[in-house]
Amino acid sequence: LMYGETSDQEEKILVSVRLRPLNEREIARNEVSDWECINNSTIIFKSNMPERSMFPTAYTFDRVFRSDCQTKQVYEEGAKEIALSAVSGVNSTIFAYGQTSSGKTYTMRGITEYALADIYEYTEKHKEREFVLKFSAMEIYNEAVRDLLSTAITPLRLLDDPERGTVVEGLIEDTLIDWKHLQELISICEGEAQRQIGENTLNEASSRSHQILRLTVESSAREYSDAGKSSTLTATVNFVDLAGSERASQTLAVGTRLKEGSHINRSLLTLGTVIRKLSKGRNGHIPYRDSKLTRILQNSLGGNARTAIICTLSPSRSHVEQSRNTLLFASCAK
Ligand code: ADP
Ligand code: MG
Repeated sequence: LMYGETSDQEEKILVSVRLRPLNEREIARNEVSDWECINNSTIIFKSNMPERSMFPTAYTFDRVFRSDCQTKQVYEEGAKEIALSAVSGVNSTIFAYGQTSSGKTYTMRGITEYALADIYEYTEKHKEREFVLKFSAMEIYNEAVRDLLSTAITPLRLLDDPERGTVVEGLIEDTLIDWKHLQELISICEGEAQRQIGENTLNEASSRSHQILRLTVESSAREYSDAGKSSTLTATVNFVDLAGSERASQTLAVGTRLKEGSHINRSLLTLGTVIRKLSKGRNGHIPYRDSKLTRILQNSLGGNARTAIICTLSPSRSHVEQSRNTLLFASCAK
């Protein structure tokens, strides 16, 4: 351990909350934001609604971001250090969690771009090591895994590899040639996600599906180090744009038992359970195997891996129930 670090600090999940601005439609309806970030770490519910008095009004996290914060700042303070840990061989995952239309995709696209640029720049600057970067991308929709770098629609199988853990069989892993190549791959998977789902149902589908963009960083020392060994390091960083968090809420399913199966997202529910258990300490059974998402991320979630969760919040009063659910999830992750 380095000076000033504690193992406790290293293990915890970094949890932040980002409030998005009211959009034009909401402004046209004369909506006002009920939420206010009163400092760097606390967000409060401003409007006193007596019937909701059983809910807390103030929530504290590692970091909260006001609606006028730029994504760059969210990245710098909520994800950068964790994403960059891949260059020193530490696996990591950055999640965006929140209801549909709260800003997950907006936030994750920016963060992914900034992080990939920083990692790429690091590998260019550190010529004492030889770096190989590999990019892959997948989507989980109704517990079926698809490759976002392939036009094939056949779902991919998950295999258990004794050394590497869960492996997505046949997933394309493209070795990066240069920065432009990476840009091309990112636009391919954004286009592919759209093409396979179809424009009409894009919103509905993106509320149900999880997207994982994954960079694998391999490196080896070019010269024998002082210790007399040429060490190789491998780590992956995962950027995850989750299904809408309303897919994990029980409230909508009450009284509509028939619809429950299609409404509830198994990967999202299991992720919640896994995160809650990890945040309470490492003892006991962690049910990674209960969903595709948690199986795929198992090596990058818990253990020595580092995790950042950015919870996105809609300011609108009509979304207050979902916003509270998101903040409860964020609190449980702490
Ligand atoms: P989600 O992925 O959670 O469904 P989106 O990222 O698609 O939500 O965001 C919904 C809409 O709000 C989009 O039009 C997006 O551009 C806009 N938006 C989201 N977050 C912000 C923000 N922080 N600042 C400005 N516009 C935002
Ligand atoms: Mg989205």
